[in-house]
Amino acid sequence: MNNLRKSNIQKLPQKTFDVLIIGGGINGAVSAAALAAKGAKVALIDKGDFAGFTSSNSSNLAWGGIKYLESHEYGLVNKLCKSRNHLMRSYPSTVKEIRFFTSIQKGFRFPPLFVFMGTIVYWIMGRFFTQSPQYLTARKIKSLEKVVKTDNLNGGFEYSDAFLHDNDARFVFNFIRSSMSYGCIAANYVQANGSEKIDGEWNTKAKDVISGEEFEIRSKVIINSAGPFVDPMNQVNQQTTEHHHLFSKGIHLIVDKITDSNKVLTFFADDGRLFL
Ligand SMILES: Cc1cc2nc3c(=O)[nH]c(=O)nc-3n(C[C@H](O)[C@H](O)[C@H](O)COP(=O)(O)OP(=O)(O)OC[C@H]3O[C@@H](n4cnc5c(N)ncnc54)[C@H](O)[C@@H]3O)c2cc1C
Repeated sequence: MNNLRKSNIQKLPQKTFDVLIIGGGINGAVSAAALAAKGAKVALIDKGDFAGFTSSNSSNLAWGGIKYLESHEYGLVNKLCKSRNHLMRSYPSTVKEIRFFTSIQKGFRFPPLFVFMGTIVYWIMGRFFTQSPQYLTARKIKSLEKVVKTDNLNGGFEYSDAFLHDNDARFVFNFIRSSMSYGCIAANYVQANGSEKIDGEWNTKAKDVISGEEFEIRSKVIINSAGPFVDPMNQVNQQTTEHHHLFSKGIHLIVDKITDSNKVLTFFADDGRLFL
């Protein structure tokens, strides 16, 4: 792999690519695979390891956006369900259905039956592609999942979404591997340090962060898929965009597996946020 990396780095300054993709997370990897498969001459670089940033820190879910039903974003849920189904259909051994086992505390802002109706709407919007949701009484929850405390429960339900069986970084790397088999020249630990358009062609300053060697990559088009670094990169390249990133955080607490059922145990925290 190290030899392949070296020879790919040597190839990067040698020709003009149709596309230079900056960032080898999920967005860069999928772009590289799709474009290379269509016959475009593609180069892909990442300043760290492929999938080494956000795309290896996700919750490994391919979900249809159930929570956006509460804010009435039906168009968004429809699109997300469609892409979730598409992923499940296209990568059946990697993107698999999983059940969410959800319990509702007494005093929650909606009664369990009402939230359950939401899961039915979600299932319909998901074109019945997964198993149907199921309503659960507190007694049923107690019999199915011993680890869930049921003293203060009003009921609950089960519904389906999908998860990445192998994990997110492997999912990304498979796209990079596929792009390379279609001729994409990909190299990790190569940083883009600004691009300039000269005579209709992009010249990108690049640096091999391992050897310190600097060189230029020429391309007709640049895809900026630098994840959280997209805006600073646009600024350096003097590109203005209508939209900008707003950062938010998710928290993963890693705990030992507490049930053998292979279901995701889901609760609503005291402040109403989903906790799974
Ligand atoms: C806690 C958390 C949980 C999440 N859970 C889910 C989930 O369950 N399901 C889901 O679908 N989504 C989830 N997401 C969102 C998802 O992870 C991101 O939307 C996705 O990973 C973004 O991918 P990306 O390719 O745009 O960015 P990234 O994965 O960040 O990739 C950008 C790459 O660009 C590289 N780069 C940056 N600057 C340069 C440069 N100058 N030169 C070269 N390379 C550069 C970086 O090294 C990086 O590898 C979650 C996100 C978080 C934070």
